[in-house]
Formats: sequence, C-alpha cells, structure tokens
Amino acid sequence: MSRITSVLIANRGEIAARVMRTARRMGLGTVAVYSDADANALHVASADQAVHIGPAPARESYLIGAKIIEAAKATGANAIHPGYGFLSENAGFADAVAAAGLIFIGPPASAIRAMGGKSEAKALMETAGVPLVPGYHGEDQDDALLAGEAARIGFPVLIKASAGGGGKGMKVANSADEFPAALASAKREAKASFGDDRVLIEKYLARPRHVEIQVFADSHGNCVYLFERDCSIQRRHQKVVEEAPAPGMDPAVRARMGQAAVAAAKAIGYVGAGTVEFLLDTDGSFYFMEMNTRLQVEHPVTEKITGQDLVEWQLLVAAGGPLPLTQEQLTINGHAIEVRLYAEDPAKGFLPQTGTLAHLRFPEQGDHVRVDTGVRTGDAISIFYDPMIAKLIVWDKDRPSAVRRLEKALAETEVAGLNANVPFLSAVASHPGFLSADLDTRFIERYEADLLPASVAPSAEVLALFSLGLTLSRRSGGNDPWDAVGGLLLNLPAVDSIEWREPGEEGASHKVDVTWARAGFTVTAIGRTLPVSGRLATDGTLSASLDGRKVTARWVRWGDHVTLFHAGGTHNLTLVDPHAGAHADHGGHGRLTAPMPGKVIALLVEEGATVTKGQPVIVLEAMKMEHTLKAPSDGTVTHLRFQVGEQVSEGVELVGFEAG
Ligand code: ADP
Repeated sequence: MSRITSVLIANRGEIAARVMRTARRMGLGTVAVYSDADANALHVASADQAVHIGPAPARESYLIGAKIIEAAKATGANAIHPGYGFLSENAGFADAVAAAGLIFIGPPASAIRAMGGKSEAKALMETAGVPLVPGYHGEDQDDALLAGEAARIGFPVLIKASAGGGGKGMKVANSADEFPAALASAKREAKASFGDDRVLIEKYLARPRHVEIQVFADSHGNCVYLFERDCSIQRRHQKVVEEAPAPGMDPAVRARMGQAAVAAAKAIGYVGAGTVEFLLDTDGSFYFMEMNTRLQVEHPVTEKITGQDLVEWQLLVAAGGPLPLTQEQLTINGHAIEVRLYAEDPAKGFLPQTGTLAHLRFPEQGDHVRVDTGVRTGDAISIFYDPMIAKLIVWDKDRPSAVRRLEKALAETEVAGLNANVPFLSAVASHPGFLSADLDTRFIERYEADLLPASVAPSAEVLALFSLGLTLSRRSGGNDPWDAVGGLLLNLPAVDSIEWREPGEEGASHKVDVTWARAGFTVTAIGRTLPVSGRLATDGTLSASLDGRKVTARWVRWGDHVTLFHAGGTHNLTLVDPHAGAHADHGGHGRLTAPMPGKVIALLVEEGATVTKGQPVIVLEAMKMEHTLKAPSDGTVTHLRFQVGEQVSEGVELVGFEAG
C-alpha cells in the first residue's frame, strides 16, 4: 500500500476546492495549479502550495499534462487528482502520471481507454450483455451510410459525438430531411470540442429518464454500487438538477441496474469511482449510455444519502486500500437534490454569460444545505472555462421536504453582475411537475412556458426600492440622508428624475421621481406616491421604510445595471442615462452582432443573399458550444465581415444587413 502525503489537484473551480477540503481533513498536503486567469482564484487561495502552469486557454494550461506532472514533482506532491473535465478521462495522462512515479487518483489507463469512445464502450457492453439503445456505432462514417442507418433505426434519431461528453456534438434529427444538416453540425461541434468527428446514431427515446449508477471498485477485486442518481432535468442534453435516490425507483430495477453497472465496471478491470449512465424507459427497461471514468459533478447527492465522502474513498482506494464498506453496509438515508447555478440566460436558449460577479451570496450551510463553489464576489466568469458558478445541494428525510429546502435555499441565493439561472431554478423547484416527480429528459422543453415566465413589470414598491437605493448610493457612503449634514443635502435638486428600463431589447421603461422634502423622501412611480427612507450598507443591504412598512432588500449596482433581491425574488433594471446618446445596440434593430466573444465556424449565406426573419445566417463557437445566429428581420445580407475561423469580440457587427 502506497502512502499519499500530498495531493495535486489538476483542475480549477469548485471541484478543485472540494477535493482540497477532503484532502486537508485527511491531513494531506494540497497543491493547486492555475492559469493566468485564475491567479487569484479560490482554489489557489485555499491550497498549501500553488503552481502557475500557463495562459488562460485550457489547452495551454490545464490540458498540458507535462506541466502538471512537473508541478507535482516541484512541490513534492505524490498523487494527482484530475477532478472532472480537463484531463480526467485522458488515458495518456494517467499513463504519464504513473510513469513519473506518481499516483493517479482514478482508474487504470486501460479502463479509461475501454470506455473512452462511446462507440467502443457500446461494443464492449454489448458483449458483456448490458442492454443498449438501438442504434449504429460502427467504424464506417460515410455520410450516405449514416443517413441509411438513421432511416433503418427510424426517426427521430440522436446523433452523438463518439468522443463526446457534456452534451456537446449531440443533435436530434426528426426526419431524413433534417439529417444532413444535423450530421454536419454534430461533426463540426465534435471536431471543435474533441478533435474527433466520428459519430454514432441512436434511436431518440420519447420520454426517457437519465438514471445513473455510482460504482466504486478497489484494487482487491471488490466492487459496489452506491445507488442511483436521477439527472433527468436537463437543458441542451446537459444536467441542471440531479437527485438521489431516483423518485419512485422500483427496488428491483435499482438492484438490476446496480448489478449491470458493477458488471460493466468488472468487465474493464475498473478501480476507483465511476458512473454508469442509463436511460430508463417508461416501461422500466433501461439501456446503457456510457460510463464516466471519474468523479461526477453531481456526486454530492450520493454523498448526502449514503453519508460517505467519495473523495475520501478515492484517496483510500488510490493508496491501495480496500473499499471502506461492503454492498450490504451501504444504505439510503433520506433524499438529496443538487442544482447547478450557471452564468447563463435561460431566456436566450441558456446562452452562457460572462462577466464579473458583482455580488454573490449563498444560504447558510449545515446538515441540510451544502454549497460547492470556486468563486467569490468580485471573481469573473470568463470565456475560457465552464460557466458554472456553484452547486447547491440540499438534503432532508424525504423528497417533499428536500424540495422545500431547495426552494428556500434558492430564495436565499443572490447573484448579480451577470445573468444567472437562479430564477429559472426556482421556477423548476416550485413547478407542480417537479413536485410530483413527473421527470424525464424533456421536462424543461415540456414546461418551458412555465419555467421561462414572461418578465413581470416591476411594481411601484419595487421601483421605489430601486430608486431609493440609487439615491442613497449617490450620497456620501450611502447613508441615510437624515444623518447627513445640511451642506450635502442642499446641493441636491428637490426632484430627481430617474429612468429605469426593463431587461431585453424592447424592455419597457419607467420614470420615477424622487422628491426630497424636509419630512422625508417621496417616490412617485406608476402613478403612486410613496413615502420612503432608508439606509444602504456597503454590502448592498437596503434597510428601508416603504409606505410605513419596514423592508429589507439587497441593492447591487454593476455598470448601468442594478439588481434588487427582495422577498426571495430577483429584479433587474437598467439605468437610462438621459445625457447619454443611443445605447449599445446588441442586434435589436436590424443588426447582427456577436452576443459573446467567439469564433466564426460557418457562414450559412452568401453576400447579397436575401433572407427571411429567423433564417440561420452564421454559426459562432463560443465557450465550446455552437450558437446559430439568425436574421433579425427579412432583408439582405450586404456583406460578410468575417471569414470562417476568425475570432470576433463581443458586440461586433458580424454581417452587413439591410432590413426590408
Ligand atoms: P454526454 O456524454 O455528452 O453527456 P450522453 O450520452 O451521456 O452524452 O447523453 C446526454 C443526455 O442526452 C442524456 O442524459 C439524455 O438526456 C439524452 N440522450 C442521450 N441518448 C438519448 C437517446 N437515445 N434518446 C433520448 N435521449 C437521449
């Protein structure tokens, strides 16, 4: 048995911080690695030692195995934990770590290789007798052959990148007509994300649930399953909500699935933590999808229901120790739910967002609430990495209680400075379909109208709070004007007119008058006049008296935007400066601009082309995803400003466009 003394975490963000917590608790040394973008990151601050490994782009830092191994040697770390993503499923890296005389905290390279390609893994599982979704996972990648296979399987079909992960390179084709475009797009995304454009085709199941089994094996031939997680609530085939156990799971199905997963792990000589993913059909039949040979993002829900620390298990097993528990000793206790907080705009197809976290506040942690994060107020969500801000994990004795905990935890979560999916997650948590566990992978699609409610116009009270915050923030230190001495107040106009605009290109605007009189402020909004007063603390806490009622809210300004957290809700408004000219235009008025920095990967029209509103014009790749930009109205594309392969920055005009 080899002793681990110090662990280097070859990752960043919440997973790096999370692995360090366990390592430290076990008395091990911790080493962080970081890119230029992460010099001040939380994972760096919380490690015993930290080593700079290169520029911000992952392929120049977090993906360079040699630099990471060098960092381990330089700091005396004798084990490397890869986290998830990056090099976690890279067999070459696992080999290199072992060759350097270090311990790789993960499975043997041979097991990673066996499950590396979805196609190869399927072939292997077929031989091991694990059920598969009907499909094609052959070597021959001829377009016509693939089209023929799709027709044989029957539409709709799902095209997947063979080397895929994270929902990338995955496209649905509903008909033979749609197939060629879907195939081309899947191949492009696969090539860009994985450097490998091979695909496989599967029957697209109508209402499957995504249920996965956590397995754990040691190097002494023991292998157990730590039950299942239901990860059916997804957008873009990526998980956003995960829970354990799967609601309504039949114990017999659980046992069969668990045994199939253990069989899969044993078939490839697995050691360590792994996840076998299945699609569970409405009739209780289940099909193998893939095995992830690493720790999963959603592992905390399994930890909560089993009372085990999976990173601790990983460290024990990597050191050659036996599994801490047998199958019979493992039991399910209560119910756990995780939600992923992302910097993204659900209203714009969950488009990832970048920016600075002007304000970040999480619920208090304890037995019922856990928050895993790698960022703090002031940190940036950049284009270089995954836009996840944090994971919120709740636990209680049963599912209804856990759901209530989730709603409360989300109401206490505050993110400002960029668009985050907190209101969306709250809408999921309180949706009747979620409460009744009516789960399948199209949940979000099905309930989209409920989950993305049209923005509600702010009430007079909310406008008054926005305006009071602004008025107070403009005064010295944001203090209550009644405490301030006369000179300052006398310089203020008796009436301050403020104009606020609701989010979105055509957001309505609201004029608010704030009047100062000896007796106090009054705010006039939407035809109502309310007496207000209050105090704005430096952390944004707004303690106000509004129309005679005491109100506490949080008021955060970022640039021209203000976010107000009030009564469990988040409100966003933009300040309209009456002196500024036309506002930055993001394509709302007949222009086609880049919504975020990215690379042009396809031009779908030619110069001079006549297009109709909504017609796809250009495909941009940003944050490892494709974004198809569409014509803002009927018109003509007068010129193409960029060529395929060129980088574009946010807000630039991509094509010359004439409406009409
Ligand atoms: P990735 O490795 O990119 O995450 P997976 O193969 O794990 O891709 O699939 C991701 C998700 O896509 C699944 O959780 C499920 O929602 C959906 N999916 C995958 N295969 C099918 C299928 N054959 N039919 C319906 N949905 C599917």
